[in-house]
Amino acid sequence: MRCSHCQKCCQDTKMELCKADISRLERRGHKAADFCEIGIDGIPRLRNVDGHCHFFDREKKRCKEYASRPLGCCIYPVNLDEDGDLVLDELCPEADTLSEDEMIEKGARLIRLLATIDSEAAARIRRQT
Ligand code: SF4
Ligand code: SF4
Repeated sequence: MRCSHCQKCCQDTKMELCKADISRLERRGHKAADFCEIGIDGIPRLRNVDGHCHFFDREKKRCKEYASRPLGCCIYPVNLDEDGDLVLDELCPEADTLSEDEMIEKGARLIRLLATIDSEAAARIRRQT
């Protein structure tokens, strides 16, 4: 896929994070409390600052942690719709440059990632009760 770095997917992000994402970004020197918040559903999501993701560099208009970005950001623009079917997010202007092979590969990764995030969230909620 060709990414034009249009920034759209880094604005008002609600990107979900798995524990591996959080650990990787902590190893890069960031504090989890600064870059993510955990919802009442037990799922951590990226924090926004003034309408952009915490990691978005406004001057360079790029992700400050592109090489270590969350798996969900790597998989984007592949998403799941309400019926659980794989879809391409309409927000991304380059979504149609994704090949069928990339769609299949990213879709498989997304399904595994969401299962991990859900199971980590369930364990987090169990620990709180
Ligand atoms: S982590 Fe990087 S790629 Fe992902 S939403 Fe934030 S700025 Fe964008
Ligand atoms: S919306 Fe698409 S083209 Fe724009 S930065 Fe995100 S992935 Fe790249």
